[in-house]
Amino acid sequence: EPVRQPAEGEALVETLLLSIDPAMRVWMNADPGYVPPVALGAVMRAGGIARVLESRIRGLAPGDLVQGRLGWQSHPTLPAAALQKLDLSLGDAEAWIGPLGTSALTAYFGMTAVGRVRPGDTVLVSGAAGAVGQIAAQVGTLNHCRVIGVAGGPEKCAYLTRELGLDAAIDYKSVDDLASAIAKAAPEGVDLYFDNVGGPTLDAAIQNMRHKGRIAICGRISQTTAADLYGVKNLGLAIGKRLRIQGFIVADFHDRYGEARAWLAGELKAGRLKQRLHLLDGLEQAPLGLKMLFEGGNTGKLAVRVAD
Ligand code: NAP
Repeated sequence: EPVRQPAEGEALVETLLLSIDPAMRVWMNADPGYVPPVALGAVMRAGGIARVLESRIRGLAPGDLVQGRLGWQSHPTLPAAALQKLDLSLGDAEAWIGPLGTSALTAYFGMTAVGRVRPGDTVLVSGAAGAVGQIAAQVGTLNHCRVIGVAGGPEKCAYLTRELGLDAAIDYKSVDDLASAIAKAAPEGVDLYFDNVGGPTLDAAIQNMRHKGRIAICGRISQTTAADLYGVKNLGLAIGKRLRIQGFIVADFHDRYGEARAWLAGELKAGRLKQRLHLLDGLEQAPLGLKMLFEGGNTGKLAVRVAD
């Protein structure tokens, strides 16, 4: 699309960082189920961080850093409702795409409001070395839980135990029987399962849940591009175990983003919350980045750096 001068109530911005999210693949389906699809030929929707170049919005001046619904484009012109000035007292631009960004908010609300994490819980997190997973796992450790991560490959597992301080990590790609591996890491069962991947991993988790356990269904990336959907077999166990299984969308908690960011920024500044940002350089890397998410090519939060 051509670059457009801002009308009254709009700003022209320069994209700095773009978040790459598995949901982008879902938005390309004919019916994503919770948002309108991104049509063929339309600009891919994407959140990110930008610098204001020209502004006709009260309160925004050239040079200000904003977050917003930028799309895969270098110089979008956007209305005030699509932009929010960054509070740099909480963190810098990279923090706002990472531990203060939407993936981190998803982890925070999934663990607290949906999963109702409690000190002493045994917590299991799948996709644990990814953007949402790495924060969800640490919401667990910071709440004095025993946390077990599931991730693909020895390097990701080492990141979880050595850098993030998880109690155990399971490389699901190298175990024959995931349910047994979880049972070994959590002999007394799992109180809270934060599910990023769905499919057989969800089955293995259900098998290991304790009485009245909670499962927060955040995502199911193993099924997003599957030709044949995996049918979860162990749901019957949810009856006897009295499990509570709840899906959620981060935007459900929009009114409480400030509360989450205050907590995340506090932990970040205290050095207790860590996170890895996986940066690709150049807007043209965005499609490759989206593919990486489905092949496990990223560790931590994947983003594209469009400009310095
Ligand atoms: P991410 O975890 O940073 O990246 C995706 C990871 O998924 C990959 O690195 C890969 O890690 C794993 N993966 C890919 N294919 C897999 C498979 N077949 N089986 C198991 N794991 C697989 O992505 P993210 O942005 O943090 O998103 C994580 C999940 O949260 C996604 O399902 C996403 O849709 C969901 N989400 C939900 C909300 C919400 O509001 N509910 C908001 C944001 C994200 P390994 O190398 O470990 O396999």
